[in-house]
Amino acid sequence: MSAGEGEFELIRRIAERVPAHPRIKLGIGDDCAVIHGANERDRLVTTDMLMDGRHFELGSATSEQVGFKALAVNLSDIAAMAGEPVAAFVAVALPRGNAAVIAEGLLRGMLPLASEFGVALAGGDTNAWDGPLVICITVIGDAVAPGPVTRSGAEPGDVLFVTGSLGGSLTGRHLAPRPRVFEALALHRAVRLKAMIDLSDGLSSDLAHVLKASGDLGAIIESDSIPIHPDAHSEALRDQRTALEHALHDGEDFELCFAVSAADAVVLERDPPQGVRPIRIGTIRREPGMFMKHADGSVTMLQRAGFDHLARPNS
Ligand code: ADP
Ligand code: MG
Repeated sequence: MSAGEGEFELIRRIAERVPAHPRIKLGIGDDCAVIHGANERDRLVTTDMLMDGRHFELGSATSEQVGFKALAVNLSDIAAMAGEPVAAFVAVALPRGNAAVIAEGLLRGMLPLASEFGVALAGGDTNAWDGPLVICITVIGDAVAPGPVTRSGAEPGDVLFVTGSLGGSLTGRHLAPRPRVFEALALHRAVRLKAMIDLSDGLSSDLAHVLKASGDLGAIIESDSIPIHPDAHSEALRDQRTALEHALHDGEDFELCFAVSAADAVVLERDPPQGVRPIRIGTIRREPGMFMKHADGSVTMLQRAGFDHLARPNS
C-alpha cells in the first residue's frame, strides 16, 4: 500500500487483480456479492469484521452489544441489496482468559436478532489469543425478484431518498443499529429501486459510491430536507460542527439511501409501504459532483467527508 492511499483505492486495486468467475455476477465493490444460483435464486454474500479498539471498546460496550452490532451491520448490507438474509457464519478471536464469558455474551447479542430476521447461525470459527476481541461475520442471503438492487443503477433525474434520520450515532446508537431489511423488501415490492446503499460510512461518502458506481453522475441535495437525528444535535453541542454536518458526514446510521424514478418518487410519497418512512433528499444529475441547495436558493459544493478506515487510523 502506498502512503496516503485510502481504503477505497486499496479495495479498487484488489478488485482489479481478482479474475472474473462464471458464478460471480457481481464481485467486489457493492454491499454484497451476487453469486449466480444455477437453476435457483441468486445468492448474496457479505462479510464485515469488528475489532476491539477500532469499532467498539469492550468495557464501554458489552460483548452482547458487540454480537448484536456485528450481525446487524451484515444484515444491513443484505438490506442494501433488497435481499432476504438466510444464514450467518461467525468467526471470532477471543481474548484468552475471558474467552467463554465473551463468547456467551456475543451469542446473547446475536440470537434475538437472528431470530427476528429469520437467519440461521450456521457456522463459524473460534480462536483465542492474547490480543483483543475480533469478530467477523459472513451472511448469506437470497436475492429477491426482480433482482438485487446494486449501487450502480441510478440515472439522471432519479430522486434520492433515505429511510430515516441521520447523524450523531456515536452517542450510542451505533451499537444498536436497526438493519432495514423489512423496509428494503417492502420498498422493492412497491417501486423499482434503481440503486441503493446502506449508510455505513456517512451520507456524503456513501452517496459518492452510488454516483461513481452509476457512471460518475452527480447529485443535488436539498439541505432542508436532510432528516437530522436528535443525536446529531447533541453531538453538535459538543463540537464545532453543526447538526447538519453530522447528519451529512457521520457514519453508522445504517439507514438506506436509494434512487427511484421521478414517477416512483411520487408513488412513494403518496403511498409509502407500511412501516417505511421514505424521505426525499435530492436528485441525481448528469453533471458529476455533489451539491447542496440551501433554503435561500444558494448552492454550495457538498464535500465528501465520511469514514475511511485507512485514511484516519486513529479515529
Ligand atoms: P460495506 O461498507 O458495504 O461493508 P466496504 O466498503 O467494506 O463495504 O467494501 C466495499 C466492497 O469491497 C465490498 O464489495 C467488499 O466485499 C469489498 N472488499 C472490501 N475489502 C476487501 C478485501 N480485502 N478483499 C476483497 N474485497 C474486499
Ligand atoms: Mg454496505
